[in-house]
Amino acid sequence: MQSLSQQLINQQFIDNQWVPSAGTRLLDVMNPYREVRIAQVTAGDAADVDAAVKAARQAQPAWQALGGSARAKYLEGFADALEARRDSIITLSATNNGKPLAEAEIDLDDAIACYRYYARQARALDTRQGELVSVEMEGVEARTYHDPVGVVGLIAPWNFPLVTSAWKLAPALAAGCAAVLKPSEVTPLPERVLAEIALEIGLPAGVLNLLNGDGEGIGAPLTNHPDVDKISFTGSNRVGEAVMQAASTRTASVSLELGGKSPILVMEDADPEQAADWVMAGIYFNAGQICSATSRLLVHENVAEALYAALAERMDALTLGDPLAEGTDLGPLTSAKQRDAVQRYLDLADKEGLAAVRDKRHRTLPEKGYFLAPTLYRDVPLESRLWQEEIFGPVLCGHSVASEAEAVQLANDSVFGLAATVISGDPGRAKRIGRQLKAGSIWYNSEQLVLPETAWGGFKRSGIGRELGPWGLSAYLEVKHVIGPA
Ligand code: NAD
Repeated sequence: MQSLSQQLINQQFIDNQWVPSAGTRLLDVMNPYREVRIAQVTAGDAADVDAAVKAARQAQPAWQALGGSARAKYLEGFADALEARRDSIITLSATNNGKPLAEAEIDLDDAIACYRYYARQARALDTRQGELVSVEMEGVEARTYHDPVGVVGLIAPWNFPLVTSAWKLAPALAAGCAAVLKPSEVTPLPERVLAEIALEIGLPAGVLNLLNGDGEGIGAPLTNHPDVDKISFTGSNRVGEAVMQAASTRTASVSLELGGKSPILVMEDADPEQAADWVMAGIYFNAGQICSATSRLLVHENVAEALYAALAERMDALTLGDPLAEGTDLGPLTSAKQRDAVQRYLDLADKEGLAAVRDKRHRTLPEKGYFLAPTLYRDVPLESRLWQEEIFGPVLCGHSVASEAEAVQLANDSVFGLAATVISGDPGRAKRIGRQLKAGSIWYNSEQLVLPETAWGGFKRSGIGRELGPWGLSAYLEVKHVIGPA
């Protein structure tokens, strides 16, 4: 594990070696609770990208030739090695990211589950190679093969560092791709352990290259590199669109997991106390820094008062504080930049005169740390930017509706379509309503249930493609038909 001193991280992991970065700029890595620098990391450079892509290109054919079952053993190796380091990783992740320990544990456990799942998928891939395709033409034999896409650039955000990179790296390696992984410069510490593990489990050199740096030093050069066959990106819409544009100049494939403004619908037959628990889980988890946060509350007017009362009670009971302390519900936001970005929305809400059920007036914040008070506005006008835009912080906006039809219409009235939740006393009704919503993941009478077997990704501006499940593997495979006389 990294020792959390003022360490200098100016080495990149390329071809199974730690080599000095060609980058000359250094970036501060912070502990967002203590507001102290815990490391400095290289911003990276295009020369680092070039070396990493070369190593990946060289390694890829042999990695592909190993076959899925052999690759599965390495994926299990990642899972076992992460498990073996669990306490140190959870502490490191909570320290660098500001998430409470229980949430850091979820980040790790979901990542481990993902490596194990794609180990199984890698084995299954061997059995799918050369499958006969039934064709109508007589005397013809047609078979389907699944080849890896090749060299892939994987770009991750800071909100769930281990899991967002696992959702890319595990299927990419299972498919037989070689990877260049770029963690976020805001939280570069947790993912560095993947390089240590690669050495420990004897992963062939060049199959995983890990580059620290920012968008300018590593992200853009990786996206623009002519020898990268695919980019898988998770992050903001602004950068995602730039990534897509860069990839389009060489017809490289892209997968994009972008932002969201997901609705949660509470119908008139819902139990307001139970509904309040799900509403809370959908927005204050990870201080609201979740792409799939259900940040637009559409509540039927008959239960609105009871629900707001139940939410206020729960919000008052939240403990804000040290992510490393047991019992902390909400840590700080992960960076000063993100805290300031959310604060701008809160200032706008003041200007617009939004009605706060709970906000900074109801809570004393810890003296240090990038904290913001958990905030709930009710009766938010549909034209407000707070209703329409992704805030990515602990801010919930509520709006009352008079009917199911109105709830569905407003839920779908968004440029995003990542996730949605429906709460109803009648599960059949909740499922039926869910079918009418335009989003990649629909939860009914539950929240944020994400499993390795189920697809993850967005409609509309929330992204392109799907991660997880067999769809997540397909994203790193090309389909090839071999056809001729039988
Ligand atoms: P971001 O777009 O600022 O950064 C994401 C990554 O892109 C970082 O590694 C960053 O260094 C890199 N990057 C920056 N500029 C680049 C460039 N020009 N070219 C290539 N890469 C570049 O996003 P963020 O602030 O790290 O993450 C928050 C956003 O991510 C939110 O919008 C959130 O909704 C989204 N997100 C989506 C999902 C999902 O599954 N849909 C999951 C998590 C986060």
